Amino acid sequence: MKLNKKTLKIIITVTAILLVATTVGLLAYFNQHRIFVFCQNHGIGKTKSNLEAVTPETEKILMSDMENNPRFTLDQSMMLINTEYTAAEGFDFNIEEYKDTTVYMNSCMLDAYAALSQAVTDKTGKKLYVSSDVRTREEQEALYLEDPKTATLPGASEHESGLCVDVYVAYYAGDAFLKSDAGRFVNSHAHKYGFIIRYPSYGEDSTGIRFEPWHIRYIGQPHAEFIYNNNLTLEQYIEMLEIGKLYQNGEYIISRQFADEGYLSVPKNATEITVSPDNTGAYIITAKINN
Ligand SMILES: [Zn+2]
Repeated sequence: MKLNKKTLKIIITVTAILLVATTVGLLAYFNQHRIFVFCQNHGIGKTKSNLEAVTPETEKILMSDMENNPRFTLDQSMMLINTEYTAAEGFDFNIEEYKDTTVYMNSCMLDAYAALSQAVTDKTGKKLYVSSDVRTREEQEALYLEDPKTATLPGASEHESGLCVDVYVAYYAGDAFLKSDAGRFVNSHAHKYGFIIRYPSYGEDSTGIRFEPWHIRYIGQPHAEFIYNNNLTLEQYIEMLEIGKLYQNGEYIISRQFADEGYLSVPKNATEITVSPDNTGAYIITAKINN
């Protein structure tokens, strides 16, 4: 069969298009994790918002009276732990075993972790495993002596608090976690369950720690949603909260305060109030309000 010029031109064009399409497809497939990180860093698919300062009616409540009042939950969810604000030696973190697994966590995140881990299985068919949970001061010291470049200074690791876990799925751990659907799901949905990627790819200057897509930290709502959507780090978020001011975020009023002779100011119309020390000397009050 003799090909005329026109047919030959069509064949060459179609082949070229197919080749380019295949190459682009393959490149995109093998770089899914890079494209994912690019989108995360540029806030693609995220909804930016502001914290609005408000002045609701407040009342002063003695912290010791909050302990047995069902309106209050006292936890450790908002503690900032880093090289500047280290965990005090011997600090009594509320550690509990997670569902008879020999994995230990801060008690405030047990339910949230169960929900996240269930969501990972439902959405991706994979089981989420924990590679590192609570570390004692001695364990962190040993890690630090072994590898001071990678391991955090004793006292500066969140792992001591039980407020974080390092997670993975079969065959995808560490940096490779993002190459799995489950890893990308955790990195783009954990905030819905109250977790943040504590050392995000865009936050190295702020946290001093390189991107750890596997290290999830519980802080609860609405903080986790806000940090995710506004590409913040926990350091930046806590710094944003001016001492003594009250901010509204949806159905929550948030406030960072120093205790005044044991008293904290809380919104009068708040029904559920969570109070956590932030480890800088102040407390973060997260109050659900009835509009
Ligand atoms: Zn970790």
